[in-house]
Amino acid sequence: MKKAFLIVFIVASLNLFAQSTPYVILISFDGFRWDYLNRSISPNLEKIRENGVSALSLRPAFPSKTFPNHQSIITGMYIENHGIISNNFFDKSSNHWFKMSDTSAVRNPQWYLGEAFWETAERNGITTASYFWPGSELSLSSRRPTYFMNYVHERPYIERIEGVIEWLKLPMEKRPRFITLYFDDTDTYGHDFGTTSKELNESIERLDNYTGILLKRLEEINLKDSVNIIIVSDHGMTDTPQEKVINIENIISSKEIKFYDDGPFMRIDGPVNLIKEAYTKLKSHEKNFRTYLTEELPGYFHYKKNPMIGSIILIADIGWSLVTNRKSQYNAKANHGYDNNHIDMHGIFIASGPNFKKNYKTGTVWNIDIYPLLCKIFDIIPNPETDGDLERIEFLLK
Ligand SMILES: [Zn+2]
Repeated sequence: MKKAFLIVFIVASLNLFAQSTPYVILISFDGFRWDYLNRSISPNLEKIRENGVSALSLRPAFPSKTFPNHQSIITGMYIENHGIISNNFFDKSSNHWFKMSDTSAVRNPQWYLGEAFWETAERNGITTASYFWPGSELSLSSRRPTYFMNYVHERPYIERIEGVIEWLKLPMEKRPRFITLYFDDTDTYGHDFGTTSKELNESIERLDNYTGILLKRLEEINLKDSVNIIIVSDHGMTDTPQEKVINIENIISSKEIKFYDDGPFMRIDGPVNLIKEAYTKLKSHEKNFRTYLTEELPGYFHYKKNPMIGSIILIADIGWSLVTNRKSQYNAKANHGYDNNHIDMHGIFIASGPNFKKNYKTGTVWNIDIYPLLCKIFDIIPNPETDGDLERIEFLLK
C-alpha cells in the first residue's frame, strides 16, 4: 500500500515537473538586420513584437560573422573564449583548419570550447532539439541536443517547421522543451542583391510567412500559448560598393605573410620581424581601415585571448572591403563582419510567450546575454564560464 502510494506520488510529481517546464523555440534568421523589421512587410513578426518584447537591436560579438555569433548566442561567451574565432581559421599548433564547409571539422568537438545551452539544459534533465544551429551536430553525443539534424542547406523551410512540430507532438517524457531553428534566407539574399533590393524584401516576406505558418501549426497542436518564441539574428548587413575595395597586398607583400579572412576584416600572421614591419607600413597607409596588433586590440572587442586569431587585425570602415591578390575582386553586394558596435551589424531580438512581458520595448541587447536568459527561463544554473550577464536582460521576463 505504502509502495503503491509512493509510485503514484513520484509519477504525479514527474508529471507536474513536465507540465511546469517551459517551452522555448529559439529561431535564427541569418543576417536579418535590426531595421528590416521596420519595413512594414512582416505582419507576423510585428505581431510577435506587439504580443511580447522587442529590442531596438541585438549586438553581435566581434567579428560579426555567422559561426562565431551563433556560438556566442548559444554559449553566452565572447568569441575569443568559445574558440570559433571565424567562419574559417587555421590552428598552427595542430596544423588543422576549421572550415564552415568542412563537415568533419564542424562536427569535431575539440574546436568548441564553450558549453552550448543544450548541454547545460540536458545536464539538468531538460530534453533539447535542434533543427539546425551551427555547432549542433557534434560527433560527441554528450555535447549535442537529444534530437538534432545534420545540416542540409537545401532542406525546405516547411520541412524544418514540420520537424519541430513533430518533436512537440512526442509523448511528454520524450518531448523536447528547448528547440532551435535556423533559416539562412536574409543572409543569402542580402549578400547577393544588397540590403535595399526587391529580392531582400521578398526574403523578409518569406521568413515572415514561415513565422506565420509556425504560429498556426503551434495553435493546431494546442501549444501556441505555452511556447516561448525567441527570434534572433547572428548579425546585420551593410552594402559594399565595388569601388570601396582595398588590396592589402598593394601595401604589404611577402610570401611569408599569411592573410586570413577578407572583406570587412582581415587577420594577418607571419614571422615576428616581418609582422613588426608590416604593422608599421599598414599603420602609415591606414585609410578607410584600422590596423591593430592583436595584443593591442581595444578590450571591448573581446578578441585577443586566443592564439588562433593571429598577430595583426585589420577592420575595414563600414562598407569597405579588404582583399588580397588571391581574390582581388569582391563580388558581394553586401556584407558583415565589421566592428560589432556599428548599428548596421546589429541583428534582431523579439520574443513572446508565457515567460515574456507583453508589448515591452527596450534598447540594444547583447547576444551573449541570451544564454543566461535561457537559463533563467528554465531555472537552471548557467555555466560559470559564460560572459553573459542576466542583469542586462532579465527585465524582459515577467
Ligand atoms: Zn550569418
